[in-house]
Amino acid sequence: MRSLSKHEVREFYRRLAESRPIPQTELEFINPFTLLVAVVLSAQATDVGVNKATPALFAIADTPAKMLALGEERLIERIRTIGLFRTKAKNLMALSRALVDRHDGEVPRDREALEALPGVGRKTANVVLNVAFGEPTIAVDTHIFRVANRTGLAPGRTPRAVEQALEAVTPAQYKRYAHHWLILHGRYVCKARRPDCPLCVVADLCRYDAKTGPAELIAARPAGGEAAGPVEAPLPPRNRRARRGTASTRISLPRARSPRRS
Ligand code: SF4
Repeated sequence: MRSLSKHEVREFYRRLAESRPIPQTELEFINPFTLLVAVVLSAQATDVGVNKATPALFAIADTPAKMLALGEERLIERIRTIGLFRTKAKNLMALSRALVDRHDGEVPRDREALEALPGVGRKTANVVLNVAFGEPTIAVDTHIFRVANRTGLAPGRTPRAVEQALEAVTPAQYKRYAHHWLILHGRYVCKARRPDCPLCVVADLCRYDAKTGPAELIAARPAGGEAAGPVEAPLPPRNRRARRGTASTRISLPRARSPRRS
């Protein structure tokens, strides 16, 4: 497959940026520690499922010290609806202990230190660096891996290869939000089974040779579904705390069509 040209890559991002000027994570959190916890919990689980469990958890354990005080068994009770909850609980306790012992209870703004924490890999570190600290990192999950390869934006055989390709081709002005634009595009438009190609804002740039046609899309829709021009996923409702004028980042995007992560 021929990769997108430099001009096409810029246009690709320009259109995604136009669709969602300030994209944000779907995970709910209130500080870097709760973001880290939410990302660890989201491995092989949906953001929706994680968000159902975390508000009650964060109300009593929003710091590493409080998480340690809660204890593993009581943590398990609060996250048992999330897949792999026992392993995740064990990792979260060890992670909290490491943060208290090595980082004064703070989440480090450092990739190496983050990846040294129990249960934290490169993808989780990239999400935390990007979302909590504003670093221009691009975490590659299943959606981004698919979009990057299908479209010709940044083809690669492994998530690491795609991450390196994205870092190389993404214009500096778009790096801060590239992760969010690509993940939301993959989640809501460029879906795994039947992408919404006739509604896609980058369809004319995309190299995918098995695009969904208008007839297929219409046939797949429930009776009475509306026809529409090129669109992206709906913009998120305003941040509840932002509405109250705080600097916090508890976010909630549309959830109804969120697929399960792989
Ligand atoms: S045209 Fe289809 S395959 Fe290409 S990016 Fe858009 S939704 Fe994905």
